[in-house]
Amino acid sequence: MKICFNQATTMKNSTLALDLECCEKTGYDFIEIRLDKLKDYLEDHTVADLAQFFASSNLKPYSFNALEFISFRDEAGDKEIKDGLRLCCEVGAAIGCGKTVVVPTFDVGPYSKAEIKQETVRALRELSDIAAPFGMKLAFEFVGYPNCSVNTLEQAYDIVAATDRENVGFVLDCFHFHAMNSKWEELEAIDPAKLFIFHLDDSEDLPPGALRDDKRLWPGEGAVDLARIFGILKAKGYAEMASIELFRPAYWDMDIAECIQTAYEKTKETIEKYM
Ligand code: ZN
Repeated sequence: MKICFNQATTMKNSTLALDLECCEKTGYDFIEIRLDKLKDYLEDHTVADLAQFFASSNLKPYSFNALEFISFRDEAGDKEIKDGLRLCCEVGAAIGCGKTVVVPTFDVGPYSKAEIKQETVRALRELSDIAAPFGMKLAFEFVGYPNCSVNTLEQAYDIVAATDRENVGFVLDCFHFHAMNSKWEELEAIDPAKLFIFHLDDSEDLPPGALRDDKRLWPGEGAVDLARIFGILKAKGYAEMASIELFRPAYWDMDIAECIQTAYEKTKETIEKYM
């Protein structure tokens, strides 16, 4: 299983240039690039600089994170998402990054699950059409918050299956899976080929619906049943990658190199323990 760094883990105080340098030194295989950090980077670098970095490094780009709130958008919001996707496709083609994380919308109002499914499938298919000519894949990430329109694995997987496009799959994030009590039998039933990205994290022990991203913990230090998640993935033959993704303010305040090193060690220990 390859080890990947998600830039959320150092989000508050780092930059793409610094994360790249530290991840390469630490020995990561991949990085998930945050779009806000990419835009900051391009203020004083070029896409060619980024391509040059990856061409001369062991570290490779895995995905862009994230196009947020893809469904239930007005015309201006829809354009913003599509422009964002075009940027991912263009930069991705230049640097060899073939995946983009896409996130459903929050607080959409009292729509039924069937209505949410219909609208989200529509949005995913439109984005799929834009991404396909670039060879870009879309990884749909449900969020385990009560007010997210898609907040369990079963709902997300059903939407991805109904979208029925080769370049649309899903993200399994251990925190989000745990946070709204997604069902184990759903995880046991997934097609691992549709698992495009695996986000590794742990969580404080709060009741379902009460967890927020700041309660994430280093893997192995919280309440998420990582043994069971890894056991299921292993049984399914999924062994591609694990990306450490934390949003914990105390970790943001660590020295960047130390945070990235610790994240690597915790991820490696977890993979070695369960795989
Ligand atoms: Zn995630």
